[in-house]
Amino acid sequence: MTATAAKIIWLAFGIAWLLLRLRPGQRARKTPVRYSARGVREFALLAVSLTGLGIVPCIYLATHFPRFADYPVIPVLSYLGIGVDLVSLWMFYRTHRDLGHNWSVSLDLRECHTLVTTGIYASVRHPMYTGFWLMAVGQALLLPNWIAGLAGLVGFGILFFGRMRREEEMMIAAFGDEYRAYMRRTARIVPWLY
Ligand code: SAH
Repeated sequence: MTATAAKIIWLAFGIAWLLLRLRPGQRARKTPVRYSARGVREFALLAVSLTGLGIVPCIYLATHFPRFADYPVIPVLSYLGIGVDLVSLWMFYRTHRDLGHNWSVSLDLRECHTLVTTGIYASVRHPMYTGFWLMAVGQALLLPNWIAGLAGLVGFGILFFGRMRREEEMMIAAFGDEYRAYMRRTARIVPWLY
């Protein structure tokens, strides 16, 4: 495994992810939003996450900046990264299928929003964020550069910890005891752990 191969694999996963989200995203956006908790804070969190998971690694791929943070490829880590990214893609496929028209990129409640507690949502209540954590780990394992590799964990980590409470508060406001009971029987992103 060379650094170039690892970079191309990272890019291929990114493109696969974009394609996978295209159809469910289009479908969900057709359903009007009835309440939105978007604002400057949500916009900033999304921008930080996009920077870490997309912009910084793309700059690295295109320009090799920041070259000083390079380290030699460790093939076993690259192969592990491929495995983690495959699981992450599967998580995105499952979550989009289960969430259906309820999905949005930010904190929105759509017309006829239903609380999904089945499928992958029966095990954890934020499986799409599990998918993003895995995607960020895959990036760290695949890109042999301390800054471009770890940028995804930092960027998505900021979004995750900055959004989680507000998302759950929004769901409690919308679904009340039904969501509270759902919270009691599920973990956030890792079954039985967290
Ligand atoms: N946090 C979830 C969903 C991410 S998409 C996950 O990680 O899988 C974000 C949108 O999903 C939010 O705007 C919220 O309205 C919606 N949402 C989150 N959990 C939901 C659930 N259990 N059922 C239906 N919609 C949900």
